[in-house]
Parts: sequence; structure tokens; C-alpha cells
Amino acid sequence: MANQPNIVVATDNLGKLKEFKLLLPSFNIISQSSMGIVPEEELGKTFFENSLHKARVANSSSGMVSLGDDSGLIVPVLNNLPGLRSARYAHARATDKENRQHLKNELEKNGFDQAKAYFVCVLALVKIPADPFPLIATGTLEGIVKTTMRGANGFGYDPMFYPKDSNFSLGEIDANEKALLSHRGEAIQILKRKIERFDFQWDSVENR
Ligand code: IMP
Repeated sequence: MANQPNIVVATDNLGKLKEFKLLLPSFNIISQSSMGIVPEEELGKTFFENSLHKARVANSSSGMVSLGDDSGLIVPVLNNLPGLRSARYAHARATDKENRQHLKNELEKNGFDQAKAYFVCVLALVKIPADPFPLIATGTLEGIVKTTMRGANGFGYDPMFYPKDSNFSLGEIDANEKALLSHRGEAIQILKRKIERFDFQWDSVENR
């Protein structure tokens, strides 16, 4: 919408984009692909580095406030994998379905039909080029991954992830419910508070 502040989201993941539109209704969410920004290889050793790098690239290419999201699923009994490789767990161009199947295979290979796991989301908001204080927010969601997949909602590993104390997988609950409990939902709430607390003036960027 015309008078809402713009945020370029540094992702091509349609599942994430949909969630950001739901989680940030008072902002105009712009995908980086619609601005011709091509994602770079993720070379960082942490979610933090990758998230910040994504946001910096999007900011320098667009000149607009940019949000990076680096996220993934950590399964401690599988040496913390898929971790940083969550999007490319099965292979470099893997689909979500291939990644889920790969995780199921790895769990079964190691004798598990379920295991403790948690999602991590690190957001970085880069407001201006060379931003000395990008706003960083982290969220986690603890639960269990099971080899039994249920539901077709969400994206990524959602059909095999069962939040702690829940009988339903993330694939079975609707987007609004997921937003209330997810790692991305938690990180966005923290980010929103920081945006308010530091009184960031969007106009100062948009009228440059
Ligand atoms: P990224 O684009 O490198 O941050 O990769 C994130 C990957 O982690 C996605 O492709 C999914 O496989 C996984 N992931 C992150 N957040 C979620 C989620 O909310 N649900 C399911 N899978 C997720």
C-alpha cells in the first residue's frame, strides 16, 4: 500500500514471504526478486552472519530498508544438522520435499523415528548503507521431528515438526496459529519492539 513503510525482504522463499506479509501487516513487504536482486551463496558460519549479509546485499542493491532472515532446523542427535544447510540438506537445489525425505532417511538410518529438534530464525534489519546498528532479533521453536509427516500447510520441514506439547504438526495448523508460536513469529515481535524503541524514521530513508 502506498503510505505504508517499505521493507525489502532478502529471500526468494515463498513460504517465508507469505509469513512476513502476515506478521508485518503495517508494512509494505517487497520481495528481493521483484527488485532484480539475486541471492548470493551463504558463506557464513552462523545464522547471524548469513542473515546480516543477506540484508546488507538487499539494502545496497535497493537503497531501501532490508530484512534478512536466516533460519533452519537443528536436530541435536544428527550433529545439529540440517542447521545452516536446511535449505540444501538433500542437495544444492533440493526441494522442500526432498529435504524432508532426506531428514527422514537420516533419522531412520540412525535408528530414530523421532528426535528432539528446534527451529531457529535470525532476522537482521539493515536500515541504511553501512548501518552501524542493524536491528537483530532471534526466535526459536522447540519440539520434535518425526518420520511421520502430517499436513500440507506451511513450508520446509513443517509437516514433520511437532511443537512441544502439541499433537499437531506445523503442517496441520493454519498460518495464523503458526505465527503465534513460531521462531519467525517470536523474532518478528522482538524486531517490532526494537523498531519502536529506537524510533526509526522510515521517511528519512525513503526521501533520500
Ligand atoms: P535459508 O533460506 O537459508 O534461511 O533456509 C531456511 C530453510 O530452513 C528453509 O528452506 C526450510 O527448509 C527451513 N525452515 C526455516 N524456517 C522454517 C519454517 O518455519 N518451517 C519449516 N522449515 C523452515
